[in-house]
Amino acid sequence: MRLDVLIFGGGAAGLWCLERFRRAGYHALLLESTALGAGQTIAAQGIIHGGGKYALRGVRDFAAVSATKAMPSRWRACLAGNEEPDLRDARVLSESCYLWLPKGSALARLQSLGFMSVVAKAGLLSTRPKRLPASRWPEALRGSAVAVYALAEPVISTGSLLKALAARHDKYIHRYDFAALRFEERSARIGDISLDPRTIVLTAGEGNAELLVRLGVGGEPMQRRPLGMVLLRGDLPPLFGHCIVGGKTQLTITAPEKRIWQIGGEIAERLAGETDDNAARQFALKEIHARLPALDLRNTEIALYRAVRAEARTADQRRPSGVHAGELAPGIIAAWPTKLSMAPVLADEVFALAEKNLKQPAGYPHHPLPPWPPPPIARYPWENAEWIPAR
Ligand SMILES: Cc1cc2nc3c(=O)[nH]c(=O)nc-3n(C[C@H](O)[C@H](O)[C@H](O)COP(=O)(O)OP(=O)(O)OC[C@H]3O[C@@H](n4cnc5c(N)ncnc54)[C@H](O)[C@@H]3O)c2cc1C
Repeated sequence: MRLDVLIFGGGAAGLWCLERFRRAGYHALLLESTALGAGQTIAAQGIIHGGGKYALRGVRDFAAVSATKAMPSRWRACLAGNEEPDLRDARVLSESCYLWLPKGSALARLQSLGFMSVVAKAGLLSTRPKRLPASRWPEALRGSAVAVYALAEPVISTGSLLKALAARHDKYIHRYDFAALRFEERSARIGDISLDPRTIVLTAGEGNAELLVRLGVGGEPMQRRPLGMVLLRGDLPPLFGHCIVGGKTQLTITAPEKRIWQIGGEIAERLAGETDDNAARQFALKEIHARLPALDLRNTEIALYRAVRAEARTADQRRPSGVHAGELAPGIIAAWPTKLSMAPVLADEVFALAEKNLKQPAGYPHHPLPPWPPPPIARYPWENAEWIPAR
């Protein structure tokens, strides 16, 4: 089967690329080996960053601030159906995030000065943090914060995003048997079907590494950064926000469903290396109590989940400031968005790279399709977590 573009991997990046190519008239297919978003997208907190957290005193990554600056407005246009892809079916969990300075710390004042660098640099941000009077603080922060700010960065439900993106091109998205895949140059053979694309795009997250090996492309262009994420379940008021400690986001809390909190931030970097789950849960509960002392954790359960961020390799193994798309061999593009929020920019970059060679759709008379079924959407981490009473 001849086609213009064959995409491997159906997370946010691959689905956004598929949309970009198909909208421009290319015959493009996407192959997924397990379930859509199974690596990172389904596990993500869904925050559409506009640079706020990268401008904090302890981070100061102004390249990342400019890379993400335009993202909230670009996503809002899609979420409202005013720009392609039309994402009106994706669920917005919150229109904004809070930033809070925790109470009870002798360092709170110092931390607040650290935070002030965000405000000072606010000219750089598309979304300026706004200090809120105590009467407008969310319930979860009352009695636990010394100052609360609102940042207009939306939070989306990742499962609904995957579904909304996939629904637009469902005929062109297939689940295939990775064990049966063989490449002969750019030609992909799976069982008795051969796919002959003009360009291959790899957006398989961590899976890009193995695909590159099978394609015979060396150089190890990818890095993995693990996270130890925390989940709480119980009578929890909704909260979408970052707790700022030492100029960094110590806790990032989102509420993807009623009664569920998903917790990342610095705590997840710290827990990534903790192999004893019991010790990790105890550490997490202590940290949550320190940052939200007024929160009642009785009748609440805790769980952990591990996830790996797959990104383009950097010299110091730190987070790249922006997206990465590179043509690693003729007609073979590998791409990592670094952030879910940057998937639209990644799709633009992949498209621009591919178009240099493709020029225009080849105009294949029919668009034959492989007989494989559509992949399911990956399950959320809390759906198969091991829950333990939080004490
Ligand atoms: C815990 C966590 C929280 C995060 N929170 C945020 C956040 O709040 N905001 C934000 O902007 N970013 C966040 N991120 C980052 C964001 O999730 C990622 O940058 C983004 O989702 C990466 O998307 P992707 O499509 O490249 O990869 P993935 O989502 O990992 O998708 C890769 C896809 O490829 C498939 N695949 C794998 N191997 C193969 C193969 N051989 N063939 C075919 N398919 C294959 C996988 O099954 C999967 O569907 C978070 C990341 C993590 C881990």
